[in-house]
Amino acid sequence: MKIVAVLYPGGQAAKEQSAMLGCVENELGLREWLESKGHTYIVTDDKEPSDSELDKHLPDTDILITTPFHPAYMNGERLEKAKKLKLAITAGVGSDHYDLEHIHKHKPDLSVLEVTGSNVVSVAEHVLMSILVLIKNFVPAHAQITNGEWNVANVAMRTYDLEDKVVGTVGAGRIGFRVLQRLLPFQCKELLYFDYQSLDPEREKEVGAKRVESFDEFLSKCDIITINCPLYERTRGLFNEHALSKMKKGAYLVNTARGAIVDRDALVKAVNSGHIAGYAGDVWYPQPAPKDHPWRHMPNNGMTPHYSGTSLDAQKRYALGTKEILEAFFDDKPFRPEDVIVRAGAIASASYGEKK
Ligand code: NAD
Repeated sequence: MKIVAVLYPGGQAAKEQSAMLGCVENELGLREWLESKGHTYIVTDDKEPSDSELDKHLPDTDILITTPFHPAYMNGERLEKAKKLKLAITAGVGSDHYDLEHIHKHKPDLSVLEVTGSNVVSVAEHVLMSILVLIKNFVPAHAQITNGEWNVANVAMRTYDLEDKVVGTVGAGRIGFRVLQRLLPFQCKELLYFDYQSLDPEREKEVGAKRVESFDEFLSKCDIITINCPLYERTRGLFNEHALSKMKKGAYLVNTARGAIVDRDALVKAVNSGHIAGYAGDVWYPQPAPKDHPWRHMPNNGMTPHYSGTSLDAQKRYALGTKEILEAFFDDKPFRPEDVIVRAGAIASASYGEKK
């Protein structure tokens, strides 16, 4: 079989750190194993349509491995080029870079799987860091130090404590729940969540979180909101001008889910006006983010490149998980049900919208 992987370039970092399994150079550690089984394994970072390495290989690719950190956007046109494609594996979590609707309607033989759970702790930790970075006004405070300055007042004037604040998560799945667990010791005033799936009463009790059914009510109650739901038609642009205006004046927003959940220009306006006190996260649309993406230069931002889910610990887990999915496929064994996003043309995951 022909297996193509699109991964991010490792460059010098790959030479210095052999545990960087998720980059082109280290190939998820799969080459020897795949070649010993007689497969052809192509690994590239060249992904932009329409004359990239990826596009050249698509017509005879059987299995495509991609990653959310350097997403190959697989729209309908590309999916139609990939006539032989049977299995699409996301090395990580989040398969929104595939046109899932197109697969649902036109590609009944293509399964989409991801390595569910592989980096959820990594992201939850990044969310906590981002919340603290924003409310402690860390970025300008640190910049003073590296610039040789010292002005306590200038940074203290926008610095708060997490204790006694209302924090809410959009999505209380694997990451959202872990964020709530990690917030618990900070003794926030209230922990809230907005999700069409309720947590089990026991889990709700464990973190002391309350579900809010109305989105507008949720927005108006939180001092800090963290976004932890997938990107699909119901969440694309969920944080638009209207939603941002419903947030408390001076609230903070953290998004490590997907960039396109937040309306790019509406956010810039809300941050510039001071209605949103700060925005942090690691996800953008598109990726890599263009040099002139306005979130790079917005005031009070704690943005990073998309790396929260690709810590060295996470890379080990999603490389292993990718191998396990391939093994199951080659041996015609069942996949772990939680890894299956699309099977036989149907969305199998409960996280991509309520099932009627
Ligand atoms: P999950 O499937 O365990 O949880 C997602 C939750 O979102 C579910 O409870 C689902 O019901 C809820 N949800 C779906 N639609 C919603 C909506 N319209 N409103 C409110 N809630 C909604 O997934 P997870 O493992 O927690 O990951 C969540 C997302 O985080 C992924 O889909 C991915 O996009 C993103 N992610 C980012 C990184 C990163 O490196 N930044 C890494 C992993 C995952």
